[in-house]
Amino acid sequence: MDTIIEIKDVSKIYKLGEERVVALNGVSFVIDKGEICCFLGTSGSGKSTLLNLMAGLEKPTRGQIKIKGINMEKLNERQLVLFRQRYIGFVFQSYNLLPTLTAMENVSMPLAFRGIPRNIRDKRARSLLEAVGLGTHLMHRPNQMSGGQQQRVGVARAFVGKPEIVFADEPTGNLDSKTTIEVMDIITGMARQNGQTLIIVTHDISIAEYADKIIHIKDGIIQSIEYTNGEEGGSLA
Ligand code: ADP
Ligand code: MG
Repeated sequence: MDTIIEIKDVSKIYKLGEERVVALNGVSFVIDKGEICCFLGTSGSGKSTLLNLMAGLEKPTRGQIKIKGINMEKLNERQLVLFRQRYIGFVFQSYNLLPTLTAMENVSMPLAFRGIPRNIRDKRARSLLEAVGLGTHLMHRPNQMSGGQQQRVGVARAFVGKPEIVFADEPTGNLDSKTTIEVMDIITGMARQNGQTLIIVTHDISIAEYADKIIHIKDGIIQSIEYTNGEEGGSLA
């Protein structure tokens, strides 16, 4: 398997006045292309910080973050924007849809940023919305949809640009258990179908069951890596 993400000895320390918060403390791991990987840990364990670092939204205090062989900490802001547009999709806990836009407009947004013509954008956005079961809700705005429907729009938006990597931060954190299953089936189904790499962070152990690999994280430290096909990664703690 090809490695797509390589994290080496990464630490992130936030300074708040006199106080230092160690959000990540010497984290190392690799993720293979096409893998579905779940970071599992309680609130405050450093999961969102880790996603933000991998997406180049923040810089590590120490260590190396390599994605597709590129050192993210060496890219400037402009290069990072282009890198994210081209290779990365995001699913957020609170959906982050634009309230004044329809489902179609929200989903086609990432393609507009990439300068893709209107007719192609519309075609792709429609096909993605149909794929998440919202073919009848193309013109609905976020406040006209349930939480589960809004998150399905969020998933369509994350996948519309055919990103190689999709990051999802607590994607089902605001959903009930039935809707959680629906949304997880859609996200993981799409990633598997297209061979995309999916990285989910969550505190919910039922989500972790969808992953090929579960990385347990606590207090900014990786405790263990578990392969769900039965292979044993061993405890690092
Ligand atoms: P999780 O997503 O697992 O709940 P986070 O990555 O959000 O955890 O946070 C890890 C730790 O880093 C927490 O102690 C949190 O308070 C702290 N932290 C996160 N972001 C910041 C920030 N911008 N400034 C200061 N501390 C932060
Ligand atoms: Mg978080």
